Amino acid sequence: MHAPAGQPSGVTTSVVAAVRGLLGSPDKRIALHEPEFRGEEWTYVKDCIDTGWVSSVGSYVDRFEQDLAAFVGCKHAIATSNGTSALHICLILAGVESGDEVLIPTLTFIATANAVSYIHAVPHFVDSETISLGIDAERLDKYLESVAQVVDGVCINRATGRRIRALVVMHVFGHPSDLDALMEVARRWNLVLVEDAAESLGSYYHGRHIGNFGQLAALSFNGNKVVTTGGGGAILTNDSDLAKRAKHISTTARVAHEWNFLHDEVGYNYRMPNINAALGCAQLERLASMVERKRRLADGYAKAFATINGVRFVGEPQGTSSNYWLNAIMLDSELASHRDELLGALNDAGFMSRPVWTLMHKLPMYQSCPRMNLDVAERIEAQLINLPSSPGLVASS
Ligand SMILES: *Cc1c(COP(=O)(O)O)cnc(C)c1O
Repeated sequence: MHAPAGQPSGVTTSVVAAVRGLLGSPDKRIALHEPEFRGEEWTYVKDCIDTGWVSSVGSYVDRFEQDLAAFVGCKHAIATSNGTSALHICLILAGVESGDEVLIPTLTFIATANAVSYIHAVPHFVDSETISLGIDAERLDKYLESVAQVVDGVCINRATGRRIRALVVMHVFGHPSDLDALMEVARRWNLVLVEDAAESLGSYYHGRHIGNFGQLAALSFNGNKVVTTGGGGAILTNDSDLAKRAKHISTTARVAHEWNFLHDEVGYNYRMPNINAALGCAQLERLASMVERKRRLADGYAKAFATINGVRFVGEPQGTSSNYWLNAIMLDSELASHRDELLGALNDAGFMSRPVWTLMHKLPMYQSCPRMNLDVAERIEAQLINLPSSPGLVASS
C-alpha cells in the first residue's frame, strides 16, 4: 500500500525522528557546518589590528604554516588565499600544462575541476566507490587499460592523443580514499598524485595524516570547513624544492630584496593575509577538540540510523580515522525516489540537510570532457543526504 498523498513515507518519518532523537527539536534551523570560535581567536585577530600587521606579511602566517605542518606531520605547508588557489598551484607544480588531461572524480566540489581549467588543461572524469565515496582505483586501472598507454614514460590518452599528467584524489566529507590502491594506479600509469585534502584536516589513513600521500596536497579553510581562517587554504608537500617553488609563485614570483620589485616569472597573488592566519592559529589550537566532538557526533548518528531499514550511515573506511567533516546517509536504491521528500522534511524540522554536489560531468562547462562510466557516482548523487555536522552540536567532555 502506498501512503496517501501528502503523508510522509515511513523512511522519512524514521529518519527525522532519529535526527530529532540525537539533536533535539531546534528553535532555529541547525546549520550544516558552523565555525566555532571559543579559543584565542579574538586575541590574535586584535593583535594584528593593534600592531598594524594585517596583510600578506606577518608573524601569524609563519606560525600558522609551522603549526599546520606539525599537526599534519609533513615537512612544508604554504598558506594561500583559499583552497582553490592552493589546488591551482599544486597542479602547476605537478607539471600540468595547457592541453594536458587530469584525472579527477566527478563526485567533488567544483574547485577540483576549476583548478584544472585555470591551466587550460582538461578534466577527465573518474567514477567513485561506495565505501569511501572516493575514486574507485580498481575500475580506474581497468579503464586506463582500455584508453591509455604509457609511451616513453608519458601516459597518453589514445582516444584524444593528449597527455594524462596527474591524478587528483579527493577525500570526500573527510573520509580517506583508498590510498594504497590509488598510489599504485598513479605509479603504474606514471601520473603525479595530488590530494585534494580540502575536507580532511584531522583525518588519517593507516595512522598517517592525509596530505602526505601525494606529491602535493591542498587544504581549505573556508568558513564551512573543520578549521576556518575566514577564507584560506594551504599547499602541503614533503619536497623542499616544490615547497620553495610553491611559495615563490604564490607570492607574485617576487625575488626577495629589501626595496627592489623584481619578479622572475608570471606569479600569483595567492598568499594568505596575516589577519586570516591569526584566526587560523587560534583554530588549530582547538582542532583536536573539534575533531573529537565531530567523531562523537558521527558515532551518535551511526547508532541512531543502525536500526532504520534502507538507510546506511556513511562511516569511516577500515584502517582510517575520519574527521567526519560532513555526516552523510545513503538511501537504498529503492528509496532514492524519497530523497527530496526526506530533504524537505529534514529542513522543515530545522535540520539543514542537502544532497551532494551536482556531479561535475553534468555541469554545462564540463559536459563534453572525457570520462569513464560514472554509474556509481550517479547512484551516490541520487541516494545521499548530508546532515548537520558542527562540532558545537556535541558538548565538550
Ligand atoms: C572546500 C573545497 C575546496 C576549496 O574551496 P575554497 O572555497 O576555494 O577554499 C576544494 N575542493 C574541495 C573538495 C572542497 O570541498
